[in-house]
Amino acid sequence: MIIGAERVETATGPIDVGPGDVVTPLARDRAAQLGVELRRTLQKNPSPHRASSPHQAQPPQASPSHQTQPSGPSQPPRETFSYSAQKTQPPQQSPAPRTVDSATLNSLYRRGAPVAAPLSPLAPAASNAGGRPRVAVLGAGHVGSIATQRLAESGLFGQVALIDVVDGLAAGVALDLWHGAALARFDTPITGSAELADLTGVDYVVLTAGKARKPGMTRTDLTQANAEIVGPLAEAVARYAPSSVIVVVTNPLEEMTHLAQQRSGFPATRVLGMAGVLDTARFAALVGLTGVCRPDEVVAYALGSHGPEMVIPLTQATGRGRPLTELLDADTLTAITDRTRDSGAEIVSLLKTGSAYFAPGQSAARMVAAMAAGSPEIMACAVVPEGQYGLRDTRVGLPVRLGPAGLAEIVTLDLDPAELAALRAAAGNLRQRIQQVG
Ligand code: NAD
Repeated sequence: MIIGAERVETATGPIDVGPGDVVTPLARDRAAQLGVELRRTLQKNPSPHRASSPHQAQPPQASPSHQTQPSGPSQPPRETFSYSAQKTQPPQQSPAPRTVDSATLNSLYRRGAPVAAPLSPLAPAASNAGGRPRVAVLGAGHVGSIATQRLAESGLFGQVALIDVVDGLAAGVALDLWHGAALARFDTPITGSAELADLTGVDYVVLTAGKARKPGMTRTDLTQANAEIVGPLAEAVARYAPSSVIVVVTNPLEEMTHLAQQRSGFPATRVLGMAGVLDTARFAALVGLTGVCRPDEVVAYALGSHGPEMVIPLTQATGRGRPLTELLDADTLTAITDRTRDSGAEIVSLLKTGSAYFAPGQSAARMVAAMAAGSPEIMACAVVPEGQYGLRDTRVGLPVRLGPAGLAEIVTLDLDPAELAALRAAAGNLRQRIQQVG
């Protein structure tokens, strides 16, 4: 069973954590904040999928992988909770030592270094996936590596499969990240390979493969080169993981998300573009610099495009529950909005060798985690509207709720006429741009 923050927040007493249960990092934090005791027990919770709230983690229904994943033997408890009265029960019999076959070892250690079986990370087939969804990350570069790290650390997934066309790169990054498992306290197996077949049956795919900007380049300059990468990869996703949800990160974002949908043949609800989560986080970070509130106390939505047509409706922006327009003067808010819009280029000009990756990787992981956990939070994603805000036949950043199978709902905010006009203008420009890629 996955014990998430909602379970903690609705608890009326101590929460029993049985063998094999997973407590998400956010749930641990909320438990500490709210004084809810996470009580380790030696008894298994009745059902791994039992949900005590409508938002608690449920595996996607459509995916075949949930039906086929074996649930592995119990893992040693990772938490150091106080024992309850049940601690007087006799200890369970220790599981037999695990046998790890050589194919499994070699899939994780492609250079063939001898590794004693008890020290090996577990391959997916032998893992404790236990019904948790599986996710693949395409592209083991900067963004893909960070996304993989965040996904593994979330504790929500049964496996993170990292794949890159460069032989050895994904395997090396995966192994390096796995070496941090004890430090970051996660047990999600991370595999790395150059094999697209490793997409087989995954529930979510984060597509980061492609070229990044260099100083002086616009995102649109990447269109042709990245279309040649994203198109075939989307077809591979459809072949190996036909029930998955794709989160596209590769730029130019809206064009590549449109292309991925076309080439995968997936419904629009299962191909989402990551940009608004990042741009919103950048806006919140810059508001935080003013000192009026912390970044995580900002509620706002960066809509429109991941570029010049970004629209951040100030009528919807609050800090610590108060309208930002009451906390900051108009000039400051304009400066923050402009700097948010140019943040990507600002980082490119500082790094000189590539583009931003810490916050982008984290943003993509956040979207996938929201789906896996059934989080009710509203986040901005590049989606295809069906009449909302008077828009259709385009792909544009809008506020949405996600569910285990992708887009659950486009949320209609009460925008003022100028904000609505800006959003419609952005959607119109994007319609023209995405038509050029197919
Ligand atoms: P990077 O160069 O560090 O990594 C890209 C990786 O993709 C490389 O390791 C490369 O080998 C791999 N790759 C290329 N072709 C592949 C293929 N056919 N199959 C598998 N892997 C393949 O770049 P990065 O910094 O990680 O950025 C990745 C992409 O994300 C870029 O297009 C960048 O513009 C974009 N990006 C988007 C956002 C956003 O908000 N949407 C933010 C930052 C970066």
